[in-house]
Amino acid sequence: MSGIADALSHIRSTLPEGVELVAVSKFHPVEALQEAYAAEQRIFGESRIQELLAKIPALPADVRWHFIGHLQTNKVRHLVGTRRIALIESIDSERLLRLVDAESERAGIVSRVLLQVHVAQEETKFGLTPDELLDFFRRRAFESLRATHICGLMGMASNTDDMQRVKADFLAIASLKKQVQELCPDLRGFDTLSMGMSHDYPAAIEAGANLVRVGTAIFGERDY
Ligand SMILES: *Cc1c(COP(=O)(O)O)cnc(C)c1O
Repeated sequence: MSGIADALSHIRSTLPEGVELVAVSKFHPVEALQEAYAAEQRIFGESRIQELLAKIPALPADVRWHFIGHLQTNKVRHLVGTRRIALIESIDSERLLRLVDAESERAGIVSRVLLQVHVAQEETKFGLTPDELLDFFRRRAFESLRATHICGLMGMASNTDDMQRVKADFLAIASLKKQVQELCPDLRGFDTLSMGMSHDYPAAIEAGANLVRVGTAIFGERDY
């Protein structure tokens, strides 16, 4: 078995039933993704449009591509136009959401997305603040979407070794998902909670994540 296959089988053995694994393949060559595919990995996460566009034709059609990076508004048409994105995890503003909706309608598809929330300490991270998120659902702003389905939330914990802080961040994100469900009990298919990366995914799962995004622990360090 290759290092990638070994890493995948190790990680899978730690995932409870119902938790799905996104193999974050950004900055890794197509050959690495093909190895993971041969080891039965089907969900891949990419964060840059050009790289994603180059990789899509190199992998079989049953790959489910997740976009997980900051999405610039001038790239939305390109991304949605591929019609190959299973989930855009990184919708970090209402403006971006509206644009994805408009481009999805234009392309004649329904896009599945997660709203990215910002609870971490770093200013640099993207996402809706908890207030913006709750306000969005209080206004029932999703009702005017025509070609977009909001499937849940994505978030990141603070980048720190302080595991108490990391756990608190994950619990805060999980609690936001619950608050949204309480605000809008009629919301359908709002059940995905994407949290946790190589160094903190066990804590994310404990807090309720059902989608984890793991890169380095599968593919090794990235060569930026
Ligand atoms: C790069 C990235 C990951 C994976 O991080 P690793 O530490 O390599 O597991 C997860 N989520 C997002 C949003 C990322 O950009």
